[in-house]
Amino acid sequence: MVDTFDLCIIGAGLIGSAAARHATLIAPHFKICLVGPKEPKDRSECQHGIFGAHYDEGRITRLLDPDPIWAELAKRSVERYNEVEVRSGVNFFKNVGFMTVCRKCDVYLDKTKDNAHKMEVPVQILGKNEVAEKFSFLSIQDDSEAVFQMKGCGHVSPRSQIIAQQTAAQQQGCQVIDDVVDQVTETTQSDASKCLKVTTSKGQVIFAKKVLLATGAFTGFRDLLPPGKVLDTTLLTQTVAFAEISDNDAERLKDMPSAVWKYTNGDKYDCYILPPIKYPDGKYYLKIGHGDDLEIELKTAAEVAEWFKTGGDKSVYQPLLDKLFKLVKGVTPVSTHGDCCVTTHTPTHHPYCDMITPLLGITVGGNGYAAKSADEIGRMGARMIIAGKWDHDLPQQRFKAKFKMNKNIPDARL
Ligand SMILES: Cc1cc2nc3c(=O)[nH]c(=O)nc-3n(C[C@H](O)[C@H](O)[C@H](O)COP(=O)(O)OP(=O)(O)OC[C@H]3O[C@@H](n4cnc5c(N)ncnc54)[C@H](O)[C@@H]3O)c2cc1C
Repeated sequence: MVDTFDLCIIGAGLIGSAAARHATLIAPHFKICLVGPKEPKDRSECQHGIFGAHYDEGRITRLLDPDPIWAELAKRSVERYNEVEVRSGVNFFKNVGFMTVCRKCDVYLDKTKDNAHKMEVPVQILGKNEVAEKFSFLSIQDDSEAVFQMKGCGHVSPRSQIIAQQTAAQQQGCQVIDDVVDQVTETTQSDASKCLKVTTSKGQVIFAKKVLLATGAFTGFRDLLPPGKVLDTTLLTQTVAFAEISDNDAERLKDMPSAVWKYTNGDKYDCYILPPIKYPDGKYYLKIGHGDDLEIELKTAAEVAEWFKTGGDKSVYQPLLDKLFKLVKGVTPVSTHGDCCVTTHTPTHHPYCDMITPLLGITVGGNGYAAKSADEIGRMGARMIIAGKWDHDLPQQRFKAKFKMNKNIPDARL
């Protein structure tokens, strides 16, 4: 008799790990596993070519958002950070504040203020002089304004958040399997019931009554979806630049919030900055990333895997660092370097959370925003896959998957 899991979650990243924890809480009697490869020690040596968007120590977390759905997903997730930290004994959240900087009267700023008001998020509106008074090391442009959220926001460590979610899930019986899934197929068991057969690259075969895919950018690059189903997602490159700073600078900047400079007309100032964060090498770094003006679309598995090994677009590092040192004043970098990643975008701008067949569901499409909100997206996916249908109070329509219709789409797995 083959041992069958009640639920197999594929993709041990931010959403999959959260889904695993929630599934163990929603269905404590279920036999659950979470399958995904660990972060490779050296990306350039990684043979399987599957990577995650979580290989870092800093992701901005904020309730301020012009989109009410993203604001709500973030709010619910942030409210549970402490519970996850306490349960797992792993801290991942730094409550250092967050600031959105926009040109005055920019539509992004207006919508952000509006949502903050509706959600009763306390904020301060700061002009150039007030920003300088509060944070003497930060400079914003004359024509700009900042919406500053003081509490319940800042940054999370995606690596630690995953450890925390998996630790809590394991405490509640979830089995975590370090492997890459090559194929998911429907099969019939000896009692004539349908289940899914999950085949991994290390040769394991897992049978599960239900499967939830939380496989991020790599969802289309193995045989995970039913034949002919191609998700409508766009994979975009991200390059970030790091400045190592001295302990003195880290101390001087210790009250710095996370910040986004956002101009809706694709202004060259679009960027986000993380305050000093201590990395596993024991050093403090400031990090800056760019807006959508510098993103490039990647289409095939080979292109994405290759991109993850490059360390990013080196021609982007210096302009990003120049911007960083203009916005954060008086920093003397000890060293600088860059890194890269890929974000998965949907035409709806919201994550897909949908049943693809009665046994197979997906939670895919972070749109560059899901690190902070992974807990609620994971909960949404866990509830859906366990119920076998939509089981969440937010409107299902916002999360429905879209597929590429063209039968002549080239094979992305190449
Ligand atoms: C540079 C950068 C900066 C960002 N900044 C922010 C930010 O400030 N705030 C924020 O909220 N969000 C941010 N994001 C976005 C956030 O990191 C992503 O939205 C989030 O990681 C998406 O979670 P996920 O679980 O969908 O995907 P991932 O975190 O990528 O996890 C997917 C997992 O699936 C696994 N997988 C894939 N295929 C298979 C397979 N065949 N078998 C087994 N496992 C598989 C992968 O190994 C990976 O671990 C940023 C992203 C990038 C790249």
